[in-house]
Amino acid sequence: MSYDVEKPDEQWRAELTPAEYAVLRQAGTEPAFTGEYTDTKATGVYSCRACGAELFTSTEKFESHCGWPSFYDPKDTDAVELIQDRSHGMVRTEVRCARCGSHLGHVFDGEGYPTPTDQRYCINSISLRLTADES
Ligand SMILES: [Zn+2]
Repeated sequence: MSYDVEKPDEQWRAELTPAEYAVLRQAGTEPAFTGEYTDTKATGVYSCRACGAELFTSTEKFESHCGWPSFYDPKDTDAVELIQDRSHGMVRTEVRCARCGSHLGHVFDGEGYPTPTDQRYCINSISLRLTADES
């Protein structure tokens, strides 16, 4: 697998904070209800904190009450990469940035949320950076 943006591990370590690195590059998960965008309702675009690719928009953000920012669809289908994740004794679908391969979170299907897709992209706040629309 190769990505448009590839950097040596030591460069990612230098560019990201330790907390960002742990999630984006080591597939960590921030604690629930602690991320800065969990309840954010501002309109704008959420970009990858590692490479700046535009990933999600506030239009697809919904209140899942799960403790992490949740989206029912990415901004563009090919903005994210989906990978089967068998870690922690579960089969889940990992969501990565398609440009740099950084870990964003997981996507869950069929949970019954009243959204157009019935999918929940459960994304770490620390993997994202919101650029709010000018008002
Ligand atoms: Zn990225």
